[in-house]
Amino acid sequence: MLSDPIAALATPPGRSALAVIRLSGTGALAVAARVIDGFHPDRPRTAVLATFRTPDGEPIDRGLYTVFPGPDSYTGEDVVELSCHGGLLAPARLLSALHAAGARPASPGEFTRRAVINGKLDLVQAEAVGDLIDAVAPAQARAALRQLDGGLSRRLTELRHALVEAEGLLAYDIDFPDEDDGPVPAGRIAAKLEDVAGRIERLLATAPAAERLREGALLVLAGRPNVGKSSLFNALLGADRALVTEIPGTTRDAVEAHTDFLGWPVRLVDTAGLWDSPNRIDQLGIEVSRRYLAAADLVLLCIETGHGPASDEISADRPTLLLRTKADLNGGTAGEGLPVSAVSGEGLAELRRSVVERVFADRVTLADLEPALGRARHRTALARAREALGSALEQLGGAGDAVLTAHHVRQATTALDELVGAVDIEEVLDRVFASFCVGK
Ligand code: GDP
Repeated sequence: MLSDPIAALATPPGRSALAVIRLSGTGALAVAARVIDGFHPDRPRTAVLATFRTPDGEPIDRGLYTVFPGPDSYTGEDVVELSCHGGLLAPARLLSALHAAGARPASPGEFTRRAVINGKLDLVQAEAVGDLIDAVAPAQARAALRQLDGGLSRRLTELRHALVEAEGLLAYDIDFPDEDDGPVPAGRIAAKLEDVAGRIERLLATAPAAERLREGALLVLAGRPNVGKSSLFNALLGADRALVTEIPGTTRDAVEAHTDFLGWPVRLVDTAGLWDSPNRIDQLGIEVSRRYLAAADLVLLCIETGHGPASDEISADRPTLLLRTKADLNGGTAGEGLPVSAVSGEGLAELRRSVVERVFADRVTLADLEPALGRARHRTALARAREALGSALEQLGGAGDAVLTAHHVRQATTALDELVGAVDIEEVLDRVFASFCVGK
């Protein structure tokens, strides 16, 4: 296991008041002592003012350093954090001095990787560190923080314990098939496995909304030309809040912008519109629109107030919210759909609320209570566990072979282990054995 001292800038480079450099590893304290005047390793978690110097003794800056002795540090190793003035020069010189003093430049994510290896975080929590850093909407930050706090990890650990207990019951059956007490009744084991399978299914059900929360829900404005899609796009963004990017490729491009509705992240796309055009360039634009529509989490189908029905507008197999645009015109007689106006702002608040309720579903009401699966990696691992439990239950209900059933239960446990990054099978074996001994 690699634990050589590594050092890297923990804040972005550039003009700033302060910069923070992190140093971690076996020998980190010795490296720090070569750069920091009067270095005291024995004042843990206390900021100390000192002069930082190059290996030749030339002063770089005066700043604060804090020692976090392992294992009670972020990485689990000895860590020193140095804060100096920001800008281009002082942090770069300090970093070079640390490298000259024996630390290696850290590779991306290496501090967090070491935290995982040293058992300070599991893989799911490490992912949450990245999500928190990348969060652009408050709901994303809340979800990341809960995951970092161990919400999902605890739920996975509970499931894993239940599976290991079931393995223990099966092991009893395998090792002592002729005991007077007889084997553990298959029904008891099946009930346990069914309970876990049900809990896994409930977690799997959170995946679509939770993945949307991580990535931002894709909302695609669709409708005929001139119904007011672009105006609505701009009105919903509020020019100063959004980052608008042109998607290159065709003349009549789709335009995508990231923003949030009531704190929930959305990617709003204005398309070229859908209509029958003999014009080749228009057709390319329409093709782009169709591709976005096929991927949309919610289509915002725009039809002008007072104009015809929605029926043949798009062959929408995607979830769709029908909007009646330009509600300030035509006396506002809308018919079916939500009346909105880019000019008066009517209906925009209602539109944002409906979108959030539709695309984030139970995340809105359960967000603070229930862990969720925010990544495809989580979803595929739990789907594998669920499938293995299906096979285990089939075996129990059929031939009832304890060895085969245990094999499938083990597959489910392994899927959970891979998810949290605990792939040390010895540990599972220890637990199986402990469980097997209980009550005998
Ligand atoms: P798009 O082709 O669907 O993107 O439609 P535009 O946003 O370009 O709008 C087409 C025309 O309708 C423009 O002249 C807009 O000024 C007008 N328009 C758009 N939204 C509204 C609205 O809410 N109220 C009124 N009165 N006019 C609007």
